[in-house]
Amino acid sequence: MDKEIFNQDLLEFLSESTTSFHAVRAMSRRLREAGFKALESSRDVAPGSGGVFFEQGGSLIALRPGSGSLLDDGLRMVGAHTDSPCLMVKPQPERRSQGYLQLSIEVYGGALLNPWFDRDLSLAGRVSYENTTGAVATALVDFRDPIAVIPSLAIHLDREANKNRTVNAQTQMSPILSLDIGEFSLREFLCEHLRDQNLDAKEVLDYELCFYDTQAPAQIGLRGEFIASARLDNLLSCYTGLQALLEADGSQWSLLVCNDHEEVGSCSATGAQGPMLQHFLQGLLPEQGVLPLLMQRSMMISADNAHAVHPSYPDKHDEHHGPKINSGPVIKVNASQRYATSSDGAALFRLLAREADVAVQSFAMRADMACGSTIGPITAGELGVTTLDIGVPTFAMHSIRELAGSDDAWSLHRVLRAYFQQTAPLFSAG
Ligand code: ZN
Repeated sequence: MDKEIFNQDLLEFLSESTTSFHAVRAMSRRLREAGFKALESSRDVAPGSGGVFFEQGGSLIALRPGSGSLLDDGLRMVGAHTDSPCLMVKPQPERRSQGYLQLSIEVYGGALLNPWFDRDLSLAGRVSYENTTGAVATALVDFRDPIAVIPSLAIHLDREANKNRTVNAQTQMSPILSLDIGEFSLREFLCEHLRDQNLDAKEVLDYELCFYDTQAPAQIGLRGEFIASARLDNLLSCYTGLQALLEADGSQWSLLVCNDHEEVGSCSATGAQGPMLQHFLQGLLPEQGVLPLLMQRSMMISADNAHAVHPSYPDKHDEHHGPKINSGPVIKVNASQRYATSSDGAALFRLLAREADVAVQSFAMRADMACGSTIGPITAGELGVTTLDIGVPTFAMHSIRELAGSDDAWSLHRVLRAYFQQTAPLFSAG
């Protein structure tokens, strides 16, 4: 695979993955095509056997067994998250105002709200329904067509708009679906959609649906330097980790975990603070009680995007820690452990990057500003494993359209591939 093909497939992946559930489906399809087998549990995975994966809701774990003993060799893990800030539809969403039909929403995660206005929006997610045998079934839906919009208020009606317009998500952000067409039930509308897909839906009972922007992901810039898309945080890292795992040679035990619910704190059945990864790892081990031993010999690289220094806002970064787009992946450090990076993990990453001929940048927050976080510290805290927080530099994090470089994901995937197949022990005694 070369960089052009890698980036084209990244755009395709971003387009397919309109929700965390769709991201899991897009990843599992690529894993199946590469010969990975879906598992119900991780028991009986033998050294040297083929790749496997396990999915639960909007989360996925994929494993390539190494050729040697898991306990002796340790496990090389990469983690990322599948969810992104968005607008989610409420349970009783239909509302009518001034002759228009709208759906009321809740904001999921720390969304930048202003960019959601005047976009051609569609709707995707998971729908649970009663089928004709009386059982509950669940299906993914994605309308793909632009079926909603949140129009701005004209500047003539708010002369202060460019100075101090604030957004009230409860009263000002309900997407308009249509003129008020009388009786409309979202559940019935979804039910018809399911039947159109040849599913035997009798009645839609519940759903988790998100609005998303239908503008396609694109490579842009005078020389194609940039990748513009929704959900780059953090589908770019999911894709990069996946591609590295697919290309790894299978000499080392290598694992990719992509968790849902990072943007809302990670505490859920499928979030990084939930038991999913720990249960999976315990299933791989021959006996109870040896997980701490395995974790001592293992490592987690938590991949999540970093903030590039913005040319119009350079003072938001420390002057020596302002990562630049297309200048390589970024090691993220925070003294308060909002990033889990430790010096031994960072040193290994620097060494692997040097061998792969990839430049590395560093990010630390200004000492007078608060720092964001990732699944890294949560996973480190749950498993006690050496963890490193890295990511590619981006602009506009949590906007409806974010911006990354067209070199950086490719470079990061080469370092992660090297990590998955490097034969030296991860750490040696000094
Ligand atoms: Zn993120």
